[in-house]
This record gives sequence, structure tokens and C-alpha cells, in this order.
Amino acid sequence: MVKEGTNRLSPVEEGLFTPPPYTESPPKLLGGYCRKCRQHYFPRPRHCRRCLDPVEGASLGSEGKLYSFTVIRTRPPLGLPQPYGVGYVDLEECGLRIFGLLDPGAVDRLRIGLPVRLAVAPLGHDARGERCLRPYFTPMEAD
Ligand SMILES: [Zn+2]
Repeated sequence: MVKEGTNRLSPVEEGLFTPPPYTESPPKLLGGYCRKCRQHYFPRPRHCRRCLDPVEGASLGSEGKLYSFTVIRTRPPLGLPQPYGVGYVDLEECGLRIFGLLDPGAVDRLRIGLPVRLAVAPLGHDARGERCLRPYFTPMEAD
């Protein structure tokens, strides 16, 4: 999903996802990989937690399945919409299970095992109060 303003705003944090525009290829999560341990990480740490070798940058892909989730209906932080969802996603490309934000427009469609893909859009604000681009997972099935 590419919303208006996506190309003008800064990411909530550098190095979490490929930068826009997404006209040629969809956004992808960025993380780390330790060749020695064959272990992916998200976000990318400087050193592997197992062997302490430096971790190289790696694309973690953009698709996965929702392992588990919850919908939060209390007052949200960082200008997020209310309600919003968070959950664990098993990434297709690398097998890593990561915790992330879920599409606030799809909280009523969330279910365990749902195929999801990464989206990046203006969503909420960063720690300084600036509107920002934020990655979240959205259902792959049509609305
Ligand atoms: Zn390692």
C-alpha cells in the first residue's frame, strides 16, 4: 500500500525497511544475518547473540503468516489509530518470527494463520512528535 506522502516523510527508524518509492518493488523488512550461525535477526544487531561475530545486513522479505495477535483498544501511544493490532508474524523468506504492528484498518479481519505482507505508510508520529513512515503487516487477501 502506498499512501500520499509516503515519499516525503522519514522512517520511524532507519534500517528497518527498504525506503520508498515502492513503484518497482514492494517494501521489504531489513534485518541482519550471521553466516557462521545461519541466524537471521530483526532488528539488525551489531553482533550475533550466539557467537558475537559481526552481523551483516539482510533482506527479510515482505510476506509471512500471522502466528498470534492482540487488538489494543486503550489510548494508543505515538499517534497510532485506536484500536490497533500487534502480533507475531512468521516471515516466509527467512523463517524468523518477529513482533510487529498490524494494519489498523484490518483489526476486524485478523485471525491466526492469516497470510500478511509488509506495508509502509504515514502512520502516527516518531519520538520527536514528527509524522513518520511506519512498517506494519496487512492481510494479503483482498479487502
Ligand atoms: Zn553467530
